[in-house]
Amino acid sequence: MKTIDLRSDTVTKPTPEMLVAMSSAPLGDDVYGDDPTVNELEKVAAEMMGKEDSLFVPTGTMGNLIAVMAHTTPGQEIILEASSHIYLYEVAGIARLAGVQARTINGNRGEMRPEDIENSIRKEDIHFPETSLICIENTHNMAGGRVIPLENMAEIQELAKAKSIPVHLDGARIFNAAAYLETDVKEIASKVDSLMFCLSKGLCSPVGSMLVGSTDFIEKARKLRKLLGGGMRQAGILAACGLVSLKEQTKQLPKDHENAATLVESLYETGFFDVSIDNTHTNIINARLTAPGWTAPKFVGAMKESGVLANARTEEVIRFVTHKDVTLEDIEEAVVRMSQILKA
Ligand SMILES: *Cc1c(COP(=O)(O)O)cnc(C)c1O
Repeated sequence: MKTIDLRSDTVTKPTPEMLVAMSSAPLGDDVYGDDPTVNELEKVAAEMMGKEDSLFVPTGTMGNLIAVMAHTTPGQEIILEASSHIYLYEVAGIARLAGVQARTINGNRGEMRPEDIENSIRKEDIHFPETSLICIENTHNMAGGRVIPLENMAEIQELAKAKSIPVHLDGARIFNAAAYLETDVKEIASKVDSLMFCLSKGLCSPVGSMLVGSTDFIEKARKLRKLLGGGMRQAGILAACGLVSLKEQTKQLPKDHENAATLVESLYETGFFDVSIDNTHTNIINARLTAPGWTAPKFVGAMKESGVLANARTEEVIRFVTHKDVTLEDIEEAVVRMSQILKA
């Protein structure tokens, strides 16, 4: 029985083209700035995002942490959406390592209202820390891969500019957002000062994320990456995959989104899930299990026995993620297996 893995797009294996690219990539010591393949990737990523420079980092978590450290000094406060990845899933690195305090805002499916941000920005007062950064996440993971509208990002940008506060985008899946909006990633990147995106999710690279921003920002970021132990040597072997991600794998994201839409429809038709196509913008699905007698964790356990993997998000909600390594047939098969469990 074939295992159908819908836990995350991080489970994607490198493509054959990546393996070829790895074996022939020109290499050097990247801490000395000598790796031509890393340099090429950093140049291409910056150009694609319409920014001055970029930095190859081992993980999205490190990229976000470096961004927070570069934009702030310890003791300051940063504004984040309450269900954002940086706040919930990055081991409180912003508190422990960047030394900043999080001020969270409850968004509407990941979207923060500019007026709520404005009310959270600290005024000058002897009692207050300074607000030094605003973070946005797009696509929004906990909101089920929802795309934050460009208009909202533009409003936040305008407010931030007026207050001289930089904006960082956790754009782990920015290419999914661009595919949904049928726009260039530059359009999204233009709304923020810095951003991080992952090569290792839907873009199928084995390792790596990019941090993108101004020349000054990336210069600071490079030193912070060293501080955190992320200065890698012949990293071109990985950057070679990243170049394939940007050139080839960005093109296949619309297919992942179509497959997610099919999965939503099929889950809905079983009658056991509360899911909505309107809330499924990209490759992540939050499906509420309504089958009597089941909790999400219990069902995920039963699914595993029949070779279908997904993550329980809460007692009721299961997260499914589509990606390059699940086909349309796999999705149909997964729903057949899930229905069999629920009907038994
Ligand atoms: C996966 C993810 C990250 C972190 O990336 P890692 O490479 O897993 O550290 C950050 N933000 C969001 C929204 C993510 O989904």
